[in-house]
Amino acid sequence: MKVLSYKTPSAETTIVFGTLPDMLKKCCDPAKTLIVADRNVHGLYRHLFDSYQTVIIDADESRKNLATVNGLYSAFMDRKLDRSSEIAAFGGGVICDITGFTASTFMRGLPFSFIPTTLLAQADASIGGKNGVNLKGYKNIVGTMTQPRLVLCDADMLETLPRREIQNGLAEIIKHALIGNMCLFNSLEQRRDAVLSLDKHHIEEILLESLRVKTAIVGADEREAGPRRRLNFGHTFAHALEKSLRIPHGEAVSTGMAIAMQISVNRGLLTSADAKRATAVLTGYGLPVSIPNNHREIFEAVTRDKKCEGDFIHYVLLRGIGEACVEKIATAELREVFHGLC
Ligand code: ADP
Ligand code: ZN
Repeated sequence: MKVLSYKTPSAETTIVFGTLPDMLKKCCDPAKTLIVADRNVHGLYRHLFDSYQTVIIDADESRKNLATVNGLYSAFMDRKLDRSSEIAAFGGGVICDITGFTASTFMRGLPFSFIPTTLLAQADASIGGKNGVNLKGYKNIVGTMTQPRLVLCDADMLETLPRREIQNGLAEIIKHALIGNMCLFNSLEQRRDAVLSLDKHHIEEILLESLRVKTAIVGADEREAGPRRRLNFGHTFAHALEKSLRIPHGEAVSTGMAIAMQISVNRGLLTSADAKRATAVLTGYGLPVSIPNNHREIFEAVTRDKKCEGDFIHYVLLRGIGEACVEKIATAELREVFHGLC
């Protein structure tokens, strides 16, 4: 088992990599732990949870709302949870978000752990303490900032995940490499076949390096006062792209990173050779780097929605592979690059 931990002002989180049955035995007492599981994933791995009380919920983005949270509160009460109880979420980012929020508000907060089963959740969503649900079409508008006690990652869980979901997670891993870990970038570039074949050793190495970037940033700036903004690299347009093009989050982030790299090149921060190398890694993993057809309206939606300071927007750019910075850029400059990619 490999272990990585991070500290924030209010908590210490331990991330463990290993085989789930072993990790459950070591870390989750069946007498105290209630599992909240994604129906699909539970169907595949139910034998691992025979000795645990389990609540099963349907996990799709449309159910990430307060009605589902309410249902979970009732389930917690029916099962007579008390302050010594612990909750563990088993599933992808949706389950982690809902469960983290519900656990951190029930009885003013019960300790909770995540057992993420998608690459996106293992590499990103389960770490950092942002838990929340959607309301009236606004994503994650109701939520808390509470860190999980434990995150248990088993790369074997990824075997049953559709290929597109793997690519989705790889986009966030490539993001972590580009903003803070040149060695990880080199591994992703050189070991593509091993990564895509889900070789456990390589996936764990890559996850570990990727999480080193995220945990260092979260540990330094949990509340996103400064450095944590770097994690938004590629995300300025992501939500609008997801909605308009109906593509998964990771694909939208990949396109967003391509836009940000083009701006970085235009500003003389990043060499075009490095931008080309990074773009080749994205496309090599089957991720998009341009906007199909003509979707110029997305740009207008983003600049309307975002908290623009006058005609400027805070944007995460690259100074090189492995180094990010935040700069204010004019919406006119952004429009030009965006339209160039349409
Ligand atoms: P994320 O937000 O992490 O991308 P979601 O929670 O939206 O993931 O889950 C995406 C889909 O994949 C859901 O339908 C979920 O049931 C399914 N899923 C999650 N983990 C696995 C897995 N290990 N194997 C098969 N399907 C999975
Ligand atoms: Zn993201």
